[in-house]
Amino acid sequence: MQNINSHRVFRRNEVQADPEGDYVLYWMQTNHRLQYNYALDYVVGWANKLNKPLLIYEELTCDYHWASDRIHTFYMEGMAEHLAMAERKGIDYLPVVEGTPGESRALLGHLLERACCLISDEYPVFFIRERNERLGEELAVSFTTVDSNGLIPLGITDKAPYNAYFFRKIMQRHFLECYSSPPDRHPLEGLEQPGAVELDDKAKQARQKSAERLQNIAAFTASLDISHEVKAIELKGTRQAALGKLGQFIQHGLSKYDEQRNDPDARVTSGLSPWLHFGKISEFEIVQAVLNHQPKPWNLDDITYNNGSTGGFFNGDPNVDSFLDEVITWREVGFHFAHHEPAYDQYESLPEWALETLEQHRHDDREHIYELEELAQSQTHDELWNAAQTQLREQGVMHNYLRMLWGKKVIQWTPSPEIALAYLIELNNRFAIDGRDPNSYSGIFWCFGRFDRAWQERPIFGKVRYMTSKSARRKLKLDQYLKEYGRQQNLEG
Ligand SMILES: Cc1cc2nc3c(=O)[nH]c(=O)nc-3n(C[C@H](O)[C@H](O)[C@H](O)COP(=O)(O)OP(=O)(O)OC[C@H]3O[C@@H](n4cnc5c(N)ncnc54)[C@H](O)[C@@H]3O)c2cc1C
Repeated sequence: MQNINSHRVFRRNEVQADPEGDYVLYWMQTNHRLQYNYALDYVVGWANKLNKPLLIYEELTCDYHWASDRIHTFYMEGMAEHLAMAERKGIDYLPVVEGTPGESRALLGHLLERACCLISDEYPVFFIRERNERLGEELAVSFTTVDSNGLIPLGITDKAPYNAYFFRKIMQRHFLECYSSPPDRHPLEGLEQPGAVELDDKAKQARQKSAERLQNIAAFTASLDISHEVKAIELKGTRQAALGKLGQFIQHGLSKYDEQRNDPDARVTSGLSPWLHFGKISEFEIVQAVLNHQPKPWNLDDITYNNGSTGGFFNGDPNVDSFLDEVITWREVGFHFAHHEPAYDQYESLPEWALETLEQHRHDDREHIYELEELAQSQTHDELWNAAQTQLREQGVMHNYLRMLWGKKVIQWTPSPEIALAYLIELNNRFAIDGRDPNSYSGIFWCFGRFDRAWQERPIFGKVRYMTSKSARRKLKLDQYLKEYGRQQNLEG
């Protein structure tokens, strides 16, 4: 029988691995971690099979969409952590931080000349999806991508799940098998030829230059032609920071998650999405850490297939159930959707019922209309919306409940749903440190009806679910939140 993890492997071309090459090349594109990484398990297997060393290549280009001090700094902090670890442990790791567009591409081309094969990360959105597709057609070297994004392999589903219930059924059917085939905690320990790659002068120079850039991140990013308005944030892009956040959540947030997760003032959610987005931490280890906190004598035998219902599956602490539903079902439904739907970021990919009802209400009166930059600078009449946007602009994060409201209001304040969609994608991906993710598109398109059902008909929204700031304020106190982010906005005038 095939191992479940074989559904994570995507052969991108028909070229066979070259046994005469000098090394196996792993290009760490999206899951930026050296632990619990299915792609590394696969790569180490190939290196050992071919009897070759492994070269881990991680690059940061400077001309990607939405490039900013914020994204660059977070990313480079993670690379600096990898470099320090590689030096400590003798790992063949080559970081390339480019100063001018095309630098890293040229170096990758150079490295490929000596590679037996190229293995990289599978990712269903953003430029990485297109780049993997293009490279599959162009490269003369064997090219494979491996899905280390979540617990349920992307290759398990055969079509885009249309809602969470549909995907939850698949998740429940495969959970135990997937959970019992985990990624290796320290995959590089299985490597038979560690530290054996001989870099040539060109690669050594690139490594040296990048190491210098990684030592002085702020000065380096300031010298680049990227957005400096979107500033670096307090959160650190390291695995150490991610593990710290997980520990804090388990200690302080998990036991209140089910009841209080919708209340921004309660601060009980994990705050892990930035590190999940950059793959600094694996979903597997989060699930494992949380399951280890089930009240005893719970064990895996208590898990019961429950036909896609949220409750009655893990059968332990409701807080654990509730959190795992977010981190597995809600997180992964977006990955599987985008994997099967190339138009995942296009308005036309909305469900028929949503397209129809939004069309019927296209010409409804809008009381307020805002331009993109007015929204970006929190200049609306709505205090709560402005506070949420201020948090996003200044700190790069926003609570899930406010994010839903934030998205819904933009539909109400723009001339058409297509413009609302374009503005939301722009604002989310420009400012959110977890943006440009399959869940950016899940969350934004959810505001327009994806993964949802029809509700009572209203102006502008039609049958798409509607939310108001008033009812948010009635349900939640939000005093602390408004004090914090409303005040910042007033201070800025
Ligand atoms: C308009 C809009 C835009 C969004 N944009 C993004 C985005 O750019 N990147 C992003 O990662 N998420 C996005 N989300 C989903 C969700 O808001 C965030 O994942 C969540 O707020 C992250 O906070 P947390 O880590 O504290 O979540 P927790 O509640 O601690 O949940 C743990 C993890 O589960 C996953 N998760 C939780 N809620 C959701 C959800 N509703 N949908 C999908 N996954 C979820 C996330 O990976 C999260 O880190 C968006 C939602 C909306 C409505």
